[in-house]
Amino acid sequence: MAPLAKRVATIPESETLRLNALVQKLKKEGRDVINLTAGEPDFNVPDAAKTAVIEAVTANRSKYTPVAGIAELRELVAAKTNAQQPGLTSRWSASHVVVSNGAKQALYNACLALIDPGDEVIIISPYWLTYPEIVKLCGGVPKVVKTRFEDQFKISPEALKKQITARTKAVILNSPSNPTGVVYSKDELSQFADVLQSPSAQGVLVLSDEIYDRHAYEPARFTSLLEAAPSLQDRVVTVNGMSKSAAMTGWRIGWSVAPHGITDAIAKLQGQTTSGINALAQAAGVAGLRMQVSEFRHQIEAFRRRRDIVLEILGQSEKIKIVPPDGAFYVLAGVSACFGLGEEAAGFAERMLEQAGVAVVAGTPFGEPDFVRLSFAVDDATLEEGCRRFVSFVEKSS
Ligand code: PLP
Repeated sequence: MAPLAKRVATIPESETLRLNALVQKLKKEGRDVINLTAGEPDFNVPDAAKTAVIEAVTANRSKYTPVAGIAELRELVAAKTNAQQPGLTSRWSASHVVVSNGAKQALYNACLALIDPGDEVIIISPYWLTYPEIVKLCGGVPKVVKTRFEDQFKISPEALKKQITARTKAVILNSPSNPTGVVYSKDELSQFADVLQSPSAQGVLVLSDEIYDRHAYEPARFTSLLEAAPSLQDRVVTVNGMSKSAAMTGWRIGWSVAPHGITDAIAKLQGQTTSGINALAQAAGVAGLRMQVSEFRHQIEAFRRRRDIVLEILGQSEKIKIVPPDGAFYVLAGVSACFGLGEEAAGFAERMLEQAGVAVVAGTPFGEPDFVRLSFAVDDATLEEGCRRFVSFVEKSS
């Protein structure tokens, strides 16, 4: 065995990959399995983006692009961000944007650019499972702050304030949230901004992960952090991309928008790691960003309908605890009432997969070992059947 670097041991194996391997094994054995683990929309890439890629291939757009992305794409990203952050005194331009291989690389770049060994980064739990791993890989210390089911998994400004110390370098915010579906209102975000304006929090940066910006279900409304708190402009990195909003997860288009000092550092790091993203994906990104938001409305309506299907069916069991999600496409379901002796979410998820043929992800890597995460990014009929099996399984469990 090659002597691996110590950092490898600090990161866990992906829970989703492990579970998917089990799903594949059961399917191979001819079992009827309903997979509710997807972290991606089940829609196809829009035709305009497909056409743009074909045209880019024909036009031999096969050379390296600028590290931060082609100008046209960065301009569209800046325009989209400006529209979502209308109160800024200084408007974003292409020079504030770095296009990366998905929002994941954008977050990773930002952490590499900002975190020094020992710096603390506040992560609100339940969290997207990659945040702590990125922070650790960058030498930082994830400071996980738990929120409670009873508080709808929302953090209060007071609770946030208590976590800020002299070692706090940044806070990661994610609204709408994976895995809880929490959407913070403009008011709530302004209150966080007040905390960050307090004397003890002056140097604290914010990574605002807004990848689910389109997935907020009325009456909830997506608010970009810098819409609510324009005065924080010099210390917020806004991260977003096309993965969820345009169903382009595999095409790997994400970005960061940040003040010049941070953007230049991110571009420098990306220049020595992956360089600019695939030229064809950038052509697709341009086409996707030129589309009207209304062209994606049917997707959002489908997700809303499916969210309601999940709430309706899982709501039939008193053993399942749910905070109705206002956004994203996941439901975090509390199932500890059904755990066997010494069991946790992973054991429960495995048992449900084997006995009821429904795959969900354990909440443990998201910071909630009493919950499982179910994705409603599947067609209505499959979702209904999966939820019915879920309910009948928990009703039979102790
Ligand atoms: N942020 C959150 C909250 C996510 O859920 C995901 C993907 O699941 C990402 C970032 C990564 O997005 P991308 O596929 O663009 O890297």
